[in-house]
Amino acid sequence: MWPQESSSCQVFAILMGLDRSVDLPIMASKAVPEDVLMNGALIRDLEVVAKDIALLRGVLMRTKETPYSSEVVSYAPFTLFPSPVPKVLFDQAIAVQTHFNRLVDKISQDTKFLHEALDSTIKVDDFTARLFNIHMHVLQEGCSQPIALGLNRSDYMLDRGTDGNTTLKQIEINTIAASFGGLSSQTPAVHRHILKVAGRLEEQKKVLDNNPAAGLAKGLAMAWELYGSERAVVMFLVEDEQINIYDHRYVENELWNRNIPVIRRRFEDVCKTGLLDQDKRLFIDGQEVAIVYFRNGYMPQNYTEQSWEARLMMERSLAVKCPDIGTHLAGTKKVQQEVARPGVLERFFPDDPEAVAQIRATFAGLYTLDMGEEGDKTVAMALANPDQFVLKPQREGGGNNIYGAEICQVLSGVKGSSERTAYILMDKVQPQPVLNYLLRRDCPLKLSTCLSELGIFGAYVRKGTNMLLNECAGHLLRTKSAEYSDGGVAAGVAVLDNPLLV
Ligand code: ADP
Ligand code: MG
Ligand code: MG
Repeated sequence: MWPQESSSCQVFAILMGLDRSVDLPIMASKAVPEDVLMNGALIRDLEVVAKDIALLRGVLMRTKETPYSSEVVSYAPFTLFPSPVPKVLFDQAIAVQTHFNRLVDKISQDTKFLHEALDSTIKVDDFTARLFNIHMHVLQEGCSQPIALGLNRSDYMLDRGTDGNTTLKQIEINTIAASFGGLSSQTPAVHRHILKVAGRLEEQKKVLDNNPAAGLAKGLAMAWELYGSERAVVMFLVEDEQINIYDHRYVENELWNRNIPVIRRRFEDVCKTGLLDQDKRLFIDGQEVAIVYFRNGYMPQNYTEQSWEARLMMERSLAVKCPDIGTHLAGTKKVQQEVARPGVLERFFPDDPEAVAQIRATFAGLYTLDMGEEGDKTVAMALANPDQFVLKPQREGGGNNIYGAEICQVLSGVKGSSERTAYILMDKVQPQPVLNYLLRRDCPLKLSTCLSELGIFGAYVRKGTNMLLNECAGHLLRTKSAEYSDGGVAAGVAVLDNPLLV
């Protein structure tokens, strides 16, 4: 056993050979008390225990080496300990979720708003323009399906304000392919077990139950029933390389448990065998599709010319799309910035000031880069203090944002031209760093200064003008080493975590 009367985390990190380079900031608080965090022998035991329990509980991923097969798999990356999250902020995030569901759904149907919000962006961003063209095409042809199914995830960081108050700030809302609802249904059992083995019996009781897989499947099941054909399938539209397949499987299996048939197909498969009948019913391999659940199609690299055709066919079809094209566009960063303008939330919720207040309380500063005086001001503000902002293009999946000195480089290049309207600018949220160990395959265990991001899953189903389901479907905590500014789990930066409410 290592002595426990440590005065400096740094000394112990070095003694344990865990990471000689970690210079722990005084500010960093701990996921668990120092006596556990600094007990080298215990930590080494827990590392083995943790990986085994993750495998036993099915917190799995395919490996980079064998992304096409399940012959050899590994654990999905995760933190050794759950991370502290203030209960009041967690509750706030849960409470606002049904309002965000309604907001996204309203935006998705407001063609005029989407057009105005994205007008400057689609002139310079080809990807958003192509999505927008599909939206226009479907509108002109007439919407063929009154059922809308939304499965989203609103992500937050906890901002340590200069006044010492920590507040909940929304980073973004993912309206397409929001992932980790499956694996995060399994991680509470993993952290509870680790804490038990570490002798932290009281803390293990505080790890929250979580089952987004069931919450997301509830929405899918309701939409499938409303579609009204027992033979029709739910189609997961998936990537070619399916490293994160087990995350999908949890949702998929919830559907099979309800005797709802599921197929998994790629864009390429839809191109080859997909067709619409005279009533615009979608058939793939001769099977009628009730729901297309997009777990792919959120970034330009996902598309070939043929898959753009396939996306259009699916959008035109009678199948329920999760998300439909309007809802996909409602999740763009540009729309997020436009919604934050004064008066816009009031327009969407004329009779519900409470919803407006709850939503607005989560907004960080968001700034337009449209051509004109307002955009010029944004440029000047970013160039003067680049470390206080994040520059965001209309992209998803992590690793696309621009930080610090690079903001100046990029903005200096585009500041006089309309190219700048491909981006938005956002206040940089500054969370409290927390010490924890990150477990990642093939990486030596190291004590890291970490930042967390809380995601709340939303599920809703609407038929015509009737909202039939509007729920919060669970949560996800992701944690990354503070040395990285950007990045999700799939991007190889963040790892799965659980909130320990404090
Ligand atoms: P993506 O759609 O690619 O996930 P995000 O807006 O979520 O785009 O940004 C990716 C990551 O960048 C986030 O997970 C977070 O770590 C970091 N990030 C984004 N916006 C901010 C912000 N305003 N302040 C601090 N970090 C941010
Ligand atoms: Mg995103
Ligand atoms: Mg994100």
